[in-house]
Amino acid sequence: MNRDIKSMDLPELTEALAELGEPKFRAKQLFTWLHRGARTFDEMTNLSKALREKLRTQFDLNPPEVARRQASRLDGTVKYLWRLADGNCVESVLMRYHHGNTVCISSEVGCAMGCAFCASTLGGLVRRLTPAEMLDQVLFTQLDSGLPISNIVLMGIGEPLDNYDHVLKFLRLVNHPDGLNIGMRHISLSTCGLVPRIARLAGEDLQLTLSVSLHAPTNAIRSQIMPVNKAYPVEELVAACRQYFETTGRRISFEYAMIRDVNDTPQVAEQLAALLHGLPAHVNLIPLNDVAESPLKPSTRRAVEAFQQILEGHGIPTTVRRTLGSDIDASCGQLRRKYEKEATSCRPGD
Ligand code: SAH
Repeated sequence: MNRDIKSMDLPELTEALAELGEPKFRAKQLFTWLHRGARTFDEMTNLSKALREKLRTQFDLNPPEVARRQASRLDGTVKYLWRLADGNCVESVLMRYHHGNTVCISSEVGCAMGCAFCASTLGGLVRRLTPAEMLDQVLFTQLDSGLPISNIVLMGIGEPLDNYDHVLKFLRLVNHPDGLNIGMRHISLSTCGLVPRIARLAGEDLQLTLSVSLHAPTNAIRSQIMPVNKAYPVEELVAACRQYFETTGRRISFEYAMIRDVNDTPQVAEQLAALLHGLPAHVNLIPLNDVAESPLKPSTRRAVEAFQQILEGHGIPTTVRRTLGSDIDASCGQLRRKYEKEATSCRPGD
């Protein structure tokens, strides 16, 4: 395996090129090519043939292949299943909102967190993605669809804060003015609640939006559906969120999947309102997506509305998230599972 060139930042590229006897400005030329989604070094026509040849022997570009592409007939959502260089697959979803085209990307192959309602975690964690593999999901979604991407959400397969260093490097790459230049305010990162990592993220001074997958206001309910709660109980999580807000000034967004008879009663809504009291937050109620392998079912529309009313009665801004791409298995991890079952493996030639 050669070095993974697209995971390198500009100072690292400058150093690598200096070792090849190249001047500093070449690094910027190379960086620009990489972040335009060049598939081969030969495309980089403003670099000499000799340099392109040297790069080819020392570095890998590894562009992902489209293993599957599914477009929703309902709302223009496009779901991509990417085959990575080692044969593993991950998903991204392109969503078309009025505020711009948004891509939801994966941060890991599989997930170790074990949430009871989530398809991504059923096979456990396979491995973490490199910064380049996250960047490529944005780049190649843009190139394949022909649509400019203005927003990114890290809400696909995996737990981004479990892959902290690579995710941070990815964020800085995708934000770079000579690259895709996507503003931090246009990026959301979603976590199931790894408290020490939330504290660390607060110290990075990034203007991104932190989404926290809360899904329950009490330890009794949350520990039933999210094993991570046993390590970091609700009070500690909300304390970390308060700290995050105090350090960054950024309002937290809480995700709340509505699960019938588990976390959707008026009493639970009151508990949630009390838990979030005084914290500048926004609650996203998401009717649970039905995952075939799980006995958990979505709440009724009536239960969702009643829940929303109670939260709003307490002054907590609440939206019920529109479900996009429901005809194309667009929720977390579903397409990868289906494909793996059909093909038993994502590896080409198997
Ligand atoms: N690991 C991160 C990000 C990936 S999951 C996290 O936990 O936040 C993205 C969001 O989808 C999370 O809020 C997750 O809890 C939610 N989710 C997973 N499975 C779901 C399902 N079946 N229905 C509704 N939301 C689901």
